[in-house]
Amino acid sequence: MKDEKWFIGVDLGGTTIKLAFLNYYGEIQHKWEIPTDKSEEGRHITMHIARAIDDKIDEIDVKKDQFAGIGMGAPGFIEMETGFIYHAVNIGWRNFPLKDKLELETGLPVIIDNDANIAALGEMWRGAGDGAKDLLCVTLGTGVGGGIITNSTIIHGTNGMAGEIGHITSIPDGGAPCNCGKTGCLETVASATGIVRIAMEDLESHKDSKLYDTYQDNHELTSRDVFEASEKKDAYAMSVVQNVTFHLGLAIANLANSLNPSKIVIGGGVSKAGESLLTPLREQFEKYALPRVKEGSDFAIATLGNDAGVIGGAWLVKTKLIK
Ligand SMILES: [Zn+2]
Repeated sequence: MKDEKWFIGVDLGGTTIKLAFLNYYGEIQHKWEIPTDKSEEGRHITMHIARAIDDKIDEIDVKKDQFAGIGMGAPGFIEMETGFIYHAVNIGWRNFPLKDKLELETGLPVIIDNDANIAALGEMWRGAGDGAKDLLCVTLGTGVGGGIITNSTIIHGTNGMAGEIGHITSIPDGGAPCNCGKTGCLETVASATGIVRIAMEDLESHKDSKLYDTYQDNHELTSRDVFEASEKKDAYAMSVVQNVTFHLGLAIANLANSLNPSKIVIGGGVSKAGESLLTPLREQFEKYALPRVKEGSDFAIATLGNDAGVIGGAWLVKTKLIK
């Protein structure tokens, strides 16, 4: 349809801003990136986004009124109703009226949500969620992010903190310190950084492990090294994976027992381990999930990669801005 509306998805990260034009069905028509300019507490970012959009509109020769609005994901603590950012450590924003500023700069309606939440919406709409209406999304990257979707809607809670799955306490006593200020959060165990930390803890007493050799060769370990060694049945690597998937499986099962999701989507860099992560994870999950909860839910690896955010942004425009 020629006059069908398009959407603009924006995904703000600490180093790059991903932008995309998407059609009514969430298919990406154009996508590109610009660097994130964090100078002067990030005050130029909204202007850069507006200019990038205008330049692209000129380049591909469409009209601005083709677009229904902008759906944007941003890191940090966000008040979704007002699009107000309380604090985004990576960007430098504090008490920043993102929605108002971006609307002023672009002349388009804007809707904002947390980056982990829009990635979850993207996966629900066009990715591994496969249209599931009740979905739990867990992103295992340098941190652990989460998005909880029930009946196709992201849960925000009373002041925007719902879905902070990474800060579920996994180790009540003596856990490692977390970026949030607590100790023993799931993030300290199941993020890429957490997995490496656990592997390093006892490496010296496992000199027979492949991981010990890898560390000697590369002077560092990655979570990928851990999963690769466990796939090759390295006993120490398998014990690390066992430990990580125990805490992750337990946390997800407890969430699933309360939310009864049909899909549990695992994303982020760590999820590239695929079945060598999912198989032990499922095993742990099944120990702690209620039988009917278990029957109703399926695990899947996220499929959209870096596009999840812009697609989720388009979903927000489609469902929240167009009446
Ligand atoms: Zn934490």
